[in-house]
Amino acid sequence: MAIPAPLNPTPRLLLGPGPSDAHPNVLRAMATPLLGHLDPQFLELMNQVQAMLRDVFMTANALTLPISGTGMSGMETCMVNLLEPGDRALVCQAGFFGQRMVEVAGRTGAQVTVIERPWGETFEPGQIREALQRVRPKALCIVQAETSTGAWQPIDQLGALCREFDTLLVIDAVTALGCVPVRVDEWGVDAVYSCSQKGLCCPPGLAPVSFSPRAVEAMERRKSKVQSWYLDLSIIRKYLGEDRVYHHTAPITMNYALHEGLRLVLEEGLEARWQRHLRNHRALKAGLLAMGLSYTAAEGRQLPQLNAVRIPDGVDDLAVRKMLLSEFGIEIGGGLGDLKGKAWRIGLMGFNSRPEVVLLFLGALEQCLARAGAKAPPGSGVAAANAAYAA
Ligand code: PLP
Repeated sequence: MAIPAPLNPTPRLLLGPGPSDAHPNVLRAMATPLLGHLDPQFLELMNQVQAMLRDVFMTANALTLPISGTGMSGMETCMVNLLEPGDRALVCQAGFFGQRMVEVAGRTGAQVTVIERPWGETFEPGQIREALQRVRPKALCIVQAETSTGAWQPIDQLGALCREFDTLLVIDAVTALGCVPVRVDEWGVDAVYSCSQKGLCCPPGLAPVSFSPRAVEAMERRKSKVQSWYLDLSIIRKYLGEDRVYHHTAPITMNYALHEGLRLVLEEGLEARWQRHLRNHRALKAGLLAMGLSYTAAEGRQLPQLNAVRIPDGVDDLAVRKMLLSEFGIEIGGGLGDLKGKAWRIGLMGFNSRPEVVLLFLGALEQCLARAGAKAPPGSGVAAANAAYAA
């Protein structure tokens, strides 16, 4: 075999559902020479990562840490540690990642009941209360930011509701953290997982998780061992504790990245960061609407960081996405599941939630749409976005 040329990919602007572009400071941090994972300097860095994660999750939960793996490892960590055969789980499903929760929860041997909304919709507390009353589950599982539909599920009332039924509240904050509020303690969330590659501006590879004291008690009351050795928190906790017992080699470079990503979130301030995501979303949305596109999620339930819009009739999904990629270096996402071929998903996450990104994207999209046969008034997208910024 001929030796391949050194890696030198054409730069892209990652405006899909994730990964999003890493912040340049994160990439610089990743060039830091390795430390051993039991080196006192690395242990101190891990303490700081845990402390910063608590601030970003807005929690005092002691059991807050990054799991080695992508967002799915966070989902799996929650499910396998909290559920075992004989348990009942209730999963809210209104998109692709709700379906994933059903699949992963089911593999624990727990009995899973599913409640559904059409893709793009969100759940109201009334429907959830009725199901909690009927099922009396150990855990209620729900996605806060459904990446497949762009729908923003309110979580704030669910913790209190779950407590009425002695149920643990498990939320998927993979696309939420670092972009919109995730108020773990205030909302009474018992288990939450996220990822590194979206709102936290790092590459994919770590899954921040946090567990309430109630969730930890539930883990301690388990009758059976956690099926997954790698994700068993009862063992992982020994590495985090005073003894620092070896479990697996921590991914050093990814933890450097997360350290820098979290520092940047806290330096900006959570409130300022959420406002930035809203401001750029409003400008993008004004531009997209002016160009004749419409959102898949209802008004008031649209995620600022993940804009899912219907593909105009007669426009070839793949042709437009290919044009954006090959001619402008811009990646956006296609539809998943029920929305395959019907929607585009445009991410403005973390570092990429910036006015220059919005304006560049709208200009490029206008050209691609025109060539694909969809007529938008010339300049309408950029003009509407600029008007939104000026408002
Ligand atoms: N949950 C949601 C809402 C997601 O958007 C994703 C991925 O985009 C996942 C879970 C899985 O995360 P990962 O692909 O990092 O494993």
